[in-house]
Amino acid sequence: MQQTADLSMKTETIIQEQPLAHRMLTGILKRGSVSPAYLFTGTEGLGKLAMAKWFARALFCNQSQTAGEPCETCSVCRQVQAGVHPDLHLIEPQSQGGSISIGQVRDDIRPAVARRTYQGQGKILVVPQAHLLTVQAQNALLKTLEDPQGESSLILISSQPESLLPTVRSRCVRVPFKSLSLEAYARRLEKMGVDDPQRQRDLYETTAADVQLASHLAKEDTAQWELMEKVAERLLRSSLPPPMISEIADRLGSKREEIKRALAYLLVLLRKRLLKEGNWREFASCVNAVSGTIEAIDANANIRLTLEVCLVQLQSSLYRKYN
Ligand SMILES: [Zn+2]
Repeated sequence: MQQTADLSMKTETIIQEQPLAHRMLTGILKRGSVSPAYLFTGTEGLGKLAMAKWFARALFCNQSQTAGEPCETCSVCRQVQAGVHPDLHLIEPQSQGGSISIGQVRDDIRPAVARRTYQGQGKILVVPQAHLLTVQAQNALLKTLEDPQGESSLILISSQPESLLPTVRSRCVRVPFKSLSLEAYARRLEKMGVDDPQRQRDLYETTAADVQLASHLAKEDTAQWELMEKVAERLLRSSLPPPMISEIADRLGSKREEIKRALAYLLVLLRKRLLKEGNWREFASCVNAVSGTIEAIDANANIRLTLEVCLVQLQSSLYRKYN
């Protein structure tokens, strides 16, 4: 979950990795022009929730020596960091994997907005996974946004902002969180125990710089990654005899998401060599095979059969050049 990823990150790291978001927010604090609603966007694991809490600390802290920055040591800062400050409200689904219902907007968000601030420095309401708001909940939320009560600021956080209603999005000041540079990404991977620079670069490409995905991959069975490396090597050297195809399909198992990620990784491995050698046509054919397979897996096709077809197609795309 996003929160877990955020909690393991230091605020300084996030500020360093997201200078644009940080500059926007300090500018707002220095001008004292806090808006009724913000939308923090960007892939999972970039520290959006941690930055929202940092913003709350910077807003509530009364010991700060620098405008727009929290002191990070006073009791207010510590309460916000621990998530127990009475002017900071986190709105999350009531059950894991559930959505945020209209009932929660009525029972949690509206009363929180209406309540007086405890400390008098405003209130911050954070919805860490705003895309989990149902359409009815978003519509109910709109009423709150249309009628801001001055003291509250709502921070919607989402890696899928397009799933929010345009009317909700248009009422928020957007704070974009940028994808990590390869350097920052590699530093994160090192903390997850992935220290091979080549593997770091491959993961950066495979996941399109998505750290959350990389953290899943780093935890995931590395056997699948090694298997894909062997398959790529074999496809680019000789051929896959039918018993080998069958064995690979067996070892890839039946977990759809894992298989899709493994195939995307295989494609990255093939791309490197094929494009380097100018074999564009072969690469296009591999892309077709893999994307067709991913579509079929998404459409609930028989996984085993689909994988075998995919491997045969990859082999026939490469056979003439690499055998
Ligand atoms: Zn403080």
